[in-house]
Amino acid sequence: MPTVMTHAAVAWGLARAARPLSPAPALAAARERTCAVVAMLPDLDVLAFTVGIPYAHPLGHRGASHSLLGAVVLGLGVWLLLRRLLRDVEGARPGGLDLALLVVAAASHGLLDMLTDGGEGVGLFVPLSDARHFWPRQPVPVSPIGLLGFFAHGLPVLAWELGLLWPAAALGALAGRPGPWRPRALAALGVAAATVAAWAWRLHLIAWDQGR
Ligand SMILES: [Zn+2]
Repeated sequence: MPTVMTHAAVAWGLARAARPLSPAPALAAARERTCAVVAMLPDLDVLAFTVGIPYAHPLGHRGASHSLLGAVVLGLGVWLLLRRLLRDVEGARPGGLDLALLVVAAASHGLLDMLTDGGEGVGLFVPLSDARHFWPRQPVPVSPIGLLGFFAHGLPVLAWELGLLWPAAALGALAGRPGPWRPRALAALGVAAATVAAWAWRLHLIAWDQGR
């Protein structure tokens, strides 16, 4: 998995980019924070190890909780909770856009895990199929499971994530910010160019390593 911070940052960026579509800024801000939290939740499935469920089992780590159906269930559940908690924020309450963003935030977790270079792959289509999936290229180094593992080996992982995935948060912040569009578009171009360079460099390093 990428680190939980990176899952949160990417989902926050996706939600933040949609802020101009929302008439109630306070509701949009709550939605952005909730999307960040929702994107971290699928990794609670590491608790499956403690009750003896194997990694590759459909209910194991990266199984049902990381599937597309799991994302719909999680997004819908959190949306229903938000509808109860936020009944009237600036005259608005969570609607269809909020539901869509929550589901996308939850789904982004499994889709990002598929970019990592370790583990069992993601059960994207559980329960229809137990197969585990990766993207054709996996440029993101897998994050160690657990806090101790992270402090021992996690910092280089986080550094790559900052270059490869966190630009999504920067682009979302630029897209969702009010004000003149030209400076924001220029900044977004700069971020996009740096991101393309980071991805190209990472893929080059992997190809070089495999060719040795
Ligand atoms: Zn995960």
